[in-house]
Amino acid sequence: MGIIQLMDEPLSNKIAAGEVVERPASVVKELVENAIDAGGTAIEVLLIEAGLTSIQIIDNGAGMDAEDALLSFSRHATSKITNEHDLFRIRTLGFRGEALASIASVSKVTLHTSDGISGTFVQLEGGRLVEHRPGSLRKGTDIRIDQLFFNTPARLKYLKTLQTELGHSIDLMNRFALSYPGVAFKLVHEGKTVLQTSGSGEIKRVISDIYGVSIAKKMIPFEGETQDYKVSGYASLPEITRANKNYISLFVNGRWVKHYAIANTVHKAYHTFLPLERQPIVILNIQGDPYLTDVNVHPAKQQIRLSKEKELMDLVHATIRQAISSAVRAPVIEQPK
Ligand code: ADP
Ligand code: MG
Repeated sequence: MGIIQLMDEPLSNKIAAGEVVERPASVVKELVENAIDAGGTAIEVLLIEAGLTSIQIIDNGAGMDAEDALLSFSRHATSKITNEHDLFRIRTLGFRGEALASIASVSKVTLHTSDGISGTFVQLEGGRLVEHRPGSLRKGTDIRIDQLFFNTPARLKYLKTLQTELGHSIDLMNRFALSYPGVAFKLVHEGKTVLQTSGSGEIKRVISDIYGVSIAKKMIPFEGETQDYKVSGYASLPEITRANKNYISLFVNGRWVKHYAIANTVHKAYHTFLPLERQPIVILNIQGDPYLTDVNVHPAKQQIRLSKEKELMDLVHATIRQAISSAVRAPVIEQPK
């Protein structure tokens, strides 16, 4: 007789969680993505002890019915893609169907969800179902993750200070806010509001909420397109500089991505306008056919592979450089004699 056995689901989920759930901010990321995918326009994130004790996300999105509320915690369960064709045309932030299963396997989860017709309450511990019953009818989803990593002590030990962990979540929420100015976000840590946006739809207003009014006044809009890509956003005047590339926020079809080559191109667009070692503040939105953008690179979905990369880089460089050059050379308004 052979010695190989198939793992049970809680065990395989725990292994998958190692890749998706690195720290409290990874949980915030997956749950806020779900809230956005569900069409939420007001999304609240409440953290206790930087998320280690508790992470709660409340949205006013579509919610789930009783059956889906349970199924959502199964591995590979998703409402977002159904076939291979969809996989190459991802239009949602999620698609892997593994975030909830992974998160649930390393925490204690309480879920209230309602699609407006029925309400459901689900509770799990370490990925195992504790309770599933009818619940409140408030449309939307309210999910709370308690005691993250309670059953994976090694991961718990690896975490940095609370300040660092909280910093990761604040940084993440800032990017969500910049990418979705039409969504009203609120981030509350132990009763204190850390970030709040209006959801008015104006990026400039979010820039002001995050970086302050005086910076927002020095951000200039840009826009450009080729056959395949459209870029738009805001770029700081050269008088504003930062020490690192953390202030260059890149979004591809609404997804915050880390892409060294694009960030570098943005920096190059400022060549001669900025000292070489300084960096600008830039919000860059890239829109393109999802077919050209492959996000199925890593479970955290923050890396991306792009087709027609050269065309995009040239567009980014030309559009931002043009905007900066004309702002810097703006005609001096003549003083009346
Ligand atoms: P994915 O987002 O990749 O589909 P998840 O494990 O994050 O996988 O979620 C599984 C499914 O649960 C989603 O496809 C969605 O149908 C449902 N779901 C999760 N969170 C929410 C939410 N906040 N509102 C409505 N549906 C949700
Ligand atoms: Mg998801």
